[in-house]
Amino acid sequence: MYDQYNRKIDYLRISLTDRCNLRCKYCMPGDIETTDMENLLTYEEIVQVTEAAAALGIRHIRLTGGEPLVRRGCVDLVEKIKNVSGIETVGMTTNGVLLAEYAKALKEAGLDSVNVSLDTLDETEFQRLTGRDELNAVLAGINAAKEAQIPVKINTVHYQHLDWKSILDYTNRVQIPVRFIEMMPIGFGKQFPFQDEESIKAVLEEAYGPMHAVNERYGNGPCHYYEIAGFKGKIGFISAMTHKFCSQCNRVRLTSEGFMKGCLQYQKGTDLRGLMRGGCTDSELKKAIY
Ligand code: SAM
Ligand code: SF4
Repeated sequence: MYDQYNRKIDYLRISLTDRCNLRCKYCMPGDIETTDMENLLTYEEIVQVTEAAAALGIRHIRLTGGEPLVRRGCVDLVEKIKNVSGIETVGMTTNGVLLAEYAKALKEAGLDSVNVSLDTLDETEFQRLTGRDELNAVLAGINAAKEAQIPVKINTVHYQHLDWKSILDYTNRVQIPVRFIEMMPIGFGKQFPFQDEESIKAVLEEAYGPMHAVNERYGNGPCHYYEIAGFKGKIGFISAMTHKFCSQCNRVRLTSEGFMKGCLQYQKGTDLRGLMRGGCTDSELKKAIY
């Protein structure tokens, strides 16, 4: 499907829940008020939206949250979504805490890739940043995903204690691509000093030598990659603030409560849950999606 700016939209991010087992300071520090389960889309409703979206041209799905793996039954959902006609890939973005438990089953269910968010390899800093002592669980999750042969990427948000050296040593050693993500001034992210892509690149180049842009694309997202001579893992940047990629945006988003949004920055969206629970037809649902 094409949007009003003539961009081809073939990627849908689905948030399964607003709950999480970590408390990252830039996302959900402290305890948050979570929505009642009955307000979340059921898995049947998520599949119903996916079928309608696939009929409109959506080909790639990414499951996210909150933390997708804390919602019970999410492995079965992966399998159901993978079986929707027209859907080519199903990926997941996770903090990795529960990945060791689910990696094998996720692979069997058809999961095509997993992005694990990991901002530091220092145990004390991990606990300070995320409020939980789960670094080893995350690392075990990454190993389990690799063992299950699910392609893994690491997502690292820039913040003032950015542990770039340990992150790069690690991703080079385990041969996983890493993507450095500019902090967006949304929610609690607004309270963090901003570090742009250029400042991270300058530090990396000083330490490791020149970075060369890679033209191939990996995955379906807005990331641009570099190589450094001798490095095995690719190094990417997702820089929503300094390298605006709105003109190439190919995605829409479904919130856990069933609002379809064209952009992460939009406050609301179209209430698909209300429509489905009101007994809408397939064509009414498709019209509301696009
Ligand atoms: N809980 C999962 C995780 O952490 O991967 C999935 C949801 S989390 C919201 C998805 C990604 O958004 C994570 O990589 C996280 O670091 C990133 N994120 C959260 N707040 C952000 C912000 N203000 N700016 C940029 N990225 C942010
Ligand atoms: Fe949870 Fe992900 Fe937000 Fe961290 S970034 S609090 S892991 S949802």
